[in-house]
Amino acid sequence: MTKITDLRAMDVRFPTSTMLDGSDAMNADPDYSAAYLRIITDNPELTGDSLVFTIGRGNDVQVKAIEILMESIAGLDTTEAFYNIGQIARKLSSDSQLRWLGTDKGVFHMAAGAVLNALWDLFAKERKMPLWKLLSHMSPEELVAAVDFRYISDALTPSEATRLLNKQLPFRAANEEKLIQNGLRAYTTTPGWLGYDDEKMLRLTSEAIDSGFTLVKYKCGKSIEDDRRRLRKVRELVGPEFRIAIDANQVWDVNQAIEWINQLQEFNLTWVEEPTHPDDVVGHSTIAKAVSPTPIATGEHGANRIMFKQLLQLKGLSIMQIDATRVAGVNENIANVLLAAKYDIPVCPHAGGIGLCEMVQHIAMFDAVAVSGHHDRRVVEYVDHLHEHFIEPTNILNGQYRAPQLPGSGAQMLDSSIDRYLFPTGQYWLNPQQESGVA
Ligand SMILES: [Mg+2]
Repeated sequence: MTKITDLRAMDVRFPTSTMLDGSDAMNADPDYSAAYLRIITDNPELTGDSLVFTIGRGNDVQVKAIEILMESIAGLDTTEAFYNIGQIARKLSSDSQLRWLGTDKGVFHMAAGAVLNALWDLFAKERKMPLWKLLSHMSPEELVAAVDFRYISDALTPSEATRLLNKQLPFRAANEEKLIQNGLRAYTTTPGWLGYDDEKMLRLTSEAIDSGFTLVKYKCGKSIEDDRRRLRKVRELVGPEFRIAIDANQVWDVNQAIEWINQLQEFNLTWVEEPTHPDDVVGHSTIAKAVSPTPIATGEHGANRIMFKQLLQLKGLSIMQIDATRVAGVNENIANVLLAAKYDIPVCPHAGGIGLCEMVQHIAMFDAVAVSGHHDRRVVEYVDHLHEHFIEPTNILNGQYRAPQLPGSGAQMLDSSIDRYLFPTGQYWLNPQQESGVA
């Protein structure tokens, strides 16, 4: 029997804005940050770790929300928590006073995700399995019990979800074998930041191709002339067949998106991502219809399963991009993956930031083993920043995510990194200029 004895929420920030890593049309100078949660147990070997990704200011608000919600799991027995994880998830989203501040979206919803993801990390470590494996070895009934079907049962019922999972049951072992042999296909956004000049963009593109990536994504949406110039140069470099995608990070209005995307049809884009406001489901549907055959992708700001349900119902997306820390944790992402399977839309997770690659790969691998199986429409985002801060950094080989081996969910950071980048008292933040080597 293991008991939760303490909970620590920490504000950890990395000074990425100094390099313009992560810059796009909406987010000019992000400092990649983690509102980090560690569950302490009476077993000194066992912690549950998770984080919510933010991009700098406001990380303290996210930490505060986690501190408020984490109290509800203090003192829990971890075995009991595992068998009641569905009820715990429902309870975290049901505090009527806190619910007023979001209704399944925003800071408190992401805080619920932090608490749930830390529990899942703990469950996986206790069972000495990486999270993808733990999920892939759970019965359809256990998985369905982890999902809150409230507000999505008009699109997916528990019995439909069980049927979907049962369908893949006979193939799980072979799927797992294939995952371990081949990994999952990754794509990279590393060359595509808007703050990079053309020379750096093209150099990084060549490097990406040399290291085995078969799809590269570029930020866009600041000016149509810039987009056309950048895409022309990329096409000249990679040829007409290589797959390229672009990402507008929500900068356009609906009509502007349609006009803009249609001016880029000649570049044969694999997808256009986040064309407009993430909550505008009807807008996405209108855009998708008007720019066909260019596929629309979205989801990194998809606040919850209800948004994804509507995007699927109204055909607002052709590629669904779940995120590990935007929604209420593993539980809600199980719902999201099941919804996508029902509508036969590929889940191509969003990653990058800090820790998102490490975390979301587990959900994609669970999807590949136990939900939609292996198929060539799946590709998982990869960005080559900040992996060195994790106990098990992502392992990308020849453009494929290799399956993580260590027990847990991938979120655990090195203690030395947490100490150094703790805001504002860590060694880095006490004297940022000296620490960055800036004179
Ligand atoms: Mg994006």
